[in-house]
Amino acid sequence: MTEEASIYYDDDVQRSQIEGKTVAVLGYGSQGHAHAQNLADSGVDVVVGLREDSSSREAVREDGLEVTTPKEAAARAEVVSVLVPDTVQPAVYEEIEEELEPGNTLQFAHGFNIHYNQIQPSEDVDVTMIAPKTPGHLLRRNYENDQGTPALLAVYQDATGDAKEEALAYAQALGCTRAGVVETSFREETETDLFGEQAVLCGGITSLIKQGYETLVDAGYSPQMAYFECLNEMKLIVDLMYEDGLGAMWDSVSDTAEYGGLTKGDVVVDEHARQNMEEVLEAVQDGTFAREWIAENQAGRPSYTQLRQAEKNHEIEEVGADLRALFAWADEESETSEDEQEKVSADD
Ligand code: NDP
Ligand code: MG
Repeated sequence: MTEEASIYYDDDVQRSQIEGKTVAVLGYGSQGHAHAQNLADSGVDVVVGLREDSSSREAVREDGLEVTTPKEAAARAEVVSVLVPDTVQPAVYEEIEEELEPGNTLQFAHGFNIHYNQIQPSEDVDVTMIAPKTPGHLLRRNYENDQGTPALLAVYQDATGDAKEEALAYAQALGCTRAGVVETSFREETETDLFGEQAVLCGGITSLIKQGYETLVDAGYSPQMAYFECLNEMKLIVDLMYEDGLGAMWDSVSDTAEYGGLTKGDVVVDEHARQNMEEVLEAVQDGTFAREWIAENQAGRPSYTQLRQAEKNHEIEEVGADLRALFAWADEESETSEDEQEKVSADD
């Protein structure tokens, strides 16, 4: 578990592993448009696969790339990059399955469907993952600015003996080996990704913010003050940790904040919260969460729709929208933060 991951750079890449091959990019959303354009600009032959009535078809043509159906694209390609949403990948895979020839590659940017057996490729194809650690628009922008984007690499199935080398050449064509490509497995990428977004990032942090906000408002403090303290300032704190670690954050805040934080943080996120985290991790590991999410989709997303609505209706959203409209920094700040994020990932 404590073994250090291998990291690969441009010098580790055999360009010939992707040269002369055709890559089918299925999907032209966040990741799809960036992979397709970076690959094409790196000299790789790219064909985009989209359904006939796809709203993205026009965008592909405007970007000067060829678009056809997923089935036709897969038939022409040696490497098929599956970049439609995770929930629709199994259905799209069914359409293209018979076009995969022995020695072809199925390439992913996230491991969910392979790891939880929603897609079960035949044994004679390579199954690999290059997962850039940014949204697609930054992957594209970094490439255009001669900067790199860190990515994860994993090989699930190596039918040809060259799966990893080809994946690295694919990563180079995206601009990722300029920054560094970290080796992992489909299992590790999928389970850590799900755990992180549930317990810490998307789930943990929003619950922490809402509970903090409600605690202050219920105690009679103004919603505006509660919003500033519990949500707005979150960004300042996270930026400090992102740039230079926890220590840089502790160094920047007052001694009072540091002492209070060091003594009370574990009182709030206590042993009980830790046990809950372990339960969340277990549900990821034993497939309970995956089954729940697949069933939720099959049922037409009834709970998901309800939860989304409830989140939208939370008082903090209304208070926040009103406050952000009053302050001039709101628009400017979101632009700078994107640029900063780009700079930092490129410097990695
Ligand atoms: P998007 O939601 O941006 O993909 C949208 C694209 O998929 C559109 O071109 C859309 O075209 C097409 N699409 C949607 N539904 C269907 C369908 N039923 N049949 C055919 N095509 C369809 O996906 P992402 O780029 O966010 O994710 C792609 C992969 O990348 C996922 O595995 C994800 O986990 C992974 N990933 C995503 C990251 C991100 O930042 N977004 C980061 C790293 C990995 P249409 O007009 O036809 O709807
Ligand atoms: Mg083929």
